[in-house]
Amino acid sequence: MLDLATRDIKFLSGVGPRRAEILNQELNIFSLHDLIYYFPYKYVDRSRVYTISELTGSMPYIQLKGQILHFNVVGEGRKKRLVARFTDGTGFIDLVWFRGVKYISSSLKLRQDYLIFGKPTVFNGQVNIAHPDMENATDIQLSSLGLKPYYNTTEKMKRGSMNSQSIEKLMKSVVDLLKYPIPETLPEHIIQKYKLMPLQEALKIIHFPGDALSLRKAQYRLKFEELFYIQLNILSYSKERQLKYKGFTFPKIGEYFNNFFFKNLPFELTGAQKRVLKEIRQDVGTGVQMNRLLQGDVGSGKTLVALMSMLMALDNGYQACMMAPTEILASQHYETILEFIHGLDIRVELLTGSTRKKDRERILSGLISGEVQIIIGTHALLEDTVTFKALGFAVIDEQHRFGVAQRAKLWIKNDNPPHILVMTATPIPRTLAMTLYGDLDVSVIDELPPGRKPIQTIHQFDNRKKSLYKMVKDQLAMGRQIYFVYPLIEESEKIDLKNLEQGYELITQEFPEYRVVKVHGKMKPAEKDEQMNLFASGQAHIMVATTVIEVGVNVPNASVMIIENAERFGLSQLHQLRGRVGRGADQSYCVLVTGYKLSEITRKRIEIMVESNDGFEIAEADLKLRGPGDLEGTQQSGVAFDLKVADLAKDGQLLQFVRTVAQDIIDKDKNRSLIENKLLWSQLDNLRKTNQNWAAIS
Ligand code: ADP
Ligand code: MG
Repeated sequence: MLDLATRDIKFLSGVGPRRAEILNQELNIFSLHDLIYYFPYKYVDRSRVYTISELTGSMPYIQLKGQILHFNVVGEGRKKRLVARFTDGTGFIDLVWFRGVKYISSSLKLRQDYLIFGKPTVFNGQVNIAHPDMENATDIQLSSLGLKPYYNTTEKMKRGSMNSQSIEKLMKSVVDLLKYPIPETLPEHIIQKYKLMPLQEALKIIHFPGDALSLRKAQYRLKFEELFYIQLNILSYSKERQLKYKGFTFPKIGEYFNNFFFKNLPFELTGAQKRVLKEIRQDVGTGVQMNRLLQGDVGSGKTLVALMSMLMALDNGYQACMMAPTEILASQHYETILEFIHGLDIRVELLTGSTRKKDRERILSGLISGEVQIIIGTHALLEDTVTFKALGFAVIDEQHRFGVAQRAKLWIKNDNPPHILVMTATPIPRTLAMTLYGDLDVSVIDELPPGRKPIQTIHQFDNRKKSLYKMVKDQLAMGRQIYFVYPLIEESEKIDLKNLEQGYELITQEFPEYRVVKVHGKMKPAEKDEQMNLFASGQAHIMVATTVIEVGVNVPNASVMIIENAERFGLSQLHQLRGRVGRGADQSYCVLVTGYKLSEITRKRIEIMVESNDGFEIAEADLKLRGPGDLEGTQQSGVAFDLKVADLAKDGQLLQFVRTVAQDIIDKDKNRSLIENKLLWSQLDNLRKTNQNWAAIS
């Protein structure tokens, strides 16, 4: 058997030490296995050759066969280009190169048949093709060309003269090696049952497909496998965990819950809140440890659900904790909850990094004795010094900011892990949730409390500041408060901060009779809090800020959110920011300010924001527009999406399907003892070893 994983690419013909280094560094390709799993990102049909007489300026990529009559370098400096006259006997066109002029002119040959490939465009009434792919046509058999693969390359690779075509050549050499058998990675019974193409064949075809149908079959096989093992991994972890840990059982609803419900709850629960509470109630009653993801748009009332779930824990003699990503958010939760439980005999405390030593000691001993029943805090809760008498329920707000390892830390505060409720206002499309948090059950609050006026979203170009300021003035005159948000993105932090400062200057000049505060992440926490508090208490009217305000800030009187450079924010982020307004009874507005020139995708993003207030719709659109690797939250979550063939935006159905296949296998082969699955479990162990991210999933 050929083992591609142990073969270094250095020794593949066509790969010297220099190319090997580029492949290592740029594409993380070290072995022949890595190389063959570097799949094309597109294919173009190369079986058809056009004639020049057929050409128009509006064609997609096409192929021509002919010869170069003559070529020259024309122009100077940045306009310098190489122009080659090309004919196939039916007409003439120009081939043009703006880059690599020297290299290409030294390699072009006259009186040789070329197969060229590119996109015709019309320039000065003439059809020409810029930067065509050129191949010597003498030794190519057209009928064998089929679909030509295209591989992604980086800038650096191009400079080292490695393009898609050079990768294609390397791929040919590896695929040639597949005349020797390689080990199959899926068990025979699965291949049979789901009519999958064998691995050996699929790997050949995915690079050099003869036709579209066999390509689809090869892709299906590889996608199936990729998603299947991810699901098998997640689901078997969750099974292992269920066996290892018992969950606390909360058999009863008692006085804490009931007193709150009948005496303190100031409004009717929404249908969605009731449903989610029922789901949680069911989970905590079973003796299995709950792991639930609660998704709900900003303002949908998740905090209340969290509180009522914590009261269930209290009713059964347990403590509860709630962890938020920032101090501001933690103290807001603390205030909210204190207010909710006013007059009930429940001890709640707040613990953050800035809790004073004396208070800290008091709180810590209260947790050990059990007197402190609910603790709200930041990461500070994770420290080893924080121990409980009986932690039964943990709420984690905005989980994207917490790594998986951090979440796991909560568990070791007990012999048995507490029930866990992870809340997020960044709706994660279902397919993604299944991959990211595959062993979390998902609850959704898909209904806002009654009486909210939908936020009106407006797109405005940044050269129309006058009318924007007029609107701001009107709102200020009505006693409302305003946010101005500027992007702050790591790479260009300095420039961004400058933008924010300039914006702040402008705004203070424009509205001299109002107090303006400024908040950004580079400020000291105390300073930040002071500014935030001025705004929250209504003493300041305008807040100029970066996205630090994204999470949690709750100022119901703020009715206008102005987002500068909106084109630089992601969709979910825009939606989060917008959620800072519309919390009171007044009509609220969100203004997305952008430059005049927008890319297609940006324009679409802004359009979606203007049209939709629905976080799920927006998240789905985001997934479709940007692909999952880019989706906010997924980078920080500790699970990189290096899916090689499957596409979460498109392969949702397949994902659901393989999940049932994986679940079925886990159920039937509890001890992993079935001979027919031997290969499958060893493959899973292999993947867990070689793929660090896998061990981290939930
Ligand atoms: P989230 O955390 O989901 O963004 P919150 O829990 O902060 O939302 O709730 C937003 C506001 O709605 C809060 O002021 C809360 O008191 C209020 N609220 C929650 N549930 C209801 C309800 N059923 N009816 C009316 N108002 C509600
Ligand atoms: Mg909230």
